[in-house]
Amino acid sequence: MVAALAAIVRVLDAREFEILLPVRALFLQRGGTVADLDPARESGGVDASVVHVAQIFAACDGAASERSVVDRLGECLFAALPDAGANEVAHEFILGAADILPRMRKGSIVRIAGALLLAGALWMARTQGPPTPSKLDLVKVKDDIYVVHNELVPGNSTALITNDGVILVDDKFDVDYDGILAQLKKVTSKPIKYVINTHHHSDHSGSNAKMQKMDVQIVASEKARANMVEGNLPGLPNMVFDHHAEVYLGGKKAELYYFGRGHTNGDIVVLFPAERVLASGDLFTNGKGLAELIDYSGGGSGKEWTTTLDGVLTLPFDQVVPGHGAVATRAVMVKWRDSTASLHTRVHQMIGQKKSKEEVAAMLRKDFGFEDLHLSISLDGLMAEMR
Ligand SMILES: [Zn+2]
Ligand SMILES: [Zn+2]
Repeated sequence: MVAALAAIVRVLDAREFEILLPVRALFLQRGGTVADLDPARESGGVDASVVHVAQIFAACDGAASERSVVDRLGECLFAALPDAGANEVAHEFILGAADILPRMRKGSIVRIAGALLLAGALWMARTQGPPTPSKLDLVKVKDDIYVVHNELVPGNSTALITNDGVILVDDKFDVDYDGILAQLKKVTSKPIKYVINTHHHSDHSGSNAKMQKMDVQIVASEKARANMVEGNLPGLPNMVFDHHAEVYLGGKKAELYYFGRGHTNGDIVVLFPAERVLASGDLFTNGKGLAELIDYSGGGSGKEWTTTLDGVLTLPFDQVVPGHGAVATRAVMVKWRDSTASLHTRVHQMIGQKKSKEEVAAMLRKDFGFEDLHLSISLDGLMAEMR
């Protein structure tokens, strides 16, 4: 742990002093010594670090600044740690921040740490090194619908092929841009004309900026775009809508719907009505290790997720491409919807019975497949929301 933190501190040091401080404080608190670092930079010692950290968190009063701290930390973390260490450090950072700052605004720290951990998990799920492209493959769903699938997350981008070009739902990470184009080349010579982001997370909107350079129009919900603005993410969508929009290309159509909060506050689904196929984004994930992830820092809601899915299930589709996991039938999504409802009921009941946070966490692990990531991101928000 100390070695991992030292690696981060070295990268941070060279890049951005302010972001360095919380990590440096944690490093020192966990027994790192000045000798592990560049001695010339260390003069203030632990006490000075704690003061700096306190100042940083005190300054993080608005969501926007919190988000930019997270973004920078996340970026540095993954530049510094080319292996699974990053996730571990993110966990440590949460514990460390809470230890270091007993009197500081804990809600703020939890939000920052949660968003950091999520950013980390997205990266760690897909890469064993510094940002490298995912291994992609192409899954045929219909004659004109293909999924560009990446092995590790396993995340999905859905492509509708037309004679005038491609409508693509979600464009993965920035580093996956070339890979997406290469995969689509196998089935069409036409360019991508529209990218629809199902939400703001960078495993769904990461290639936006590169797409826009190729004159691709990016569409998202108003709220997803607002989250991207707040998070200072590149490639802001060119077009937004509040509840419903339609995109026409080459005589074909994609219907876009916003039904409410769930995974974030800005998730949309995309229906290809002629094919009766739905691309659900992360409102539906399918498979082991892919339990509900409620991103409270991104406006998500465990409570409202079920009614949002009820809205989605009014649409006419037979097959659904989840944000992550294997393509499924409508029936699998109905089961998922029911599971979100019972998750809500169970947590609410346990809180009524005065069960501890640990007991709720154990239940979520056992009955709903929550893993460390899900608990770190979602448990506190879930407990607060289901009270
Ligand atoms: Zn997501
Ligand atoms: Zn995702």
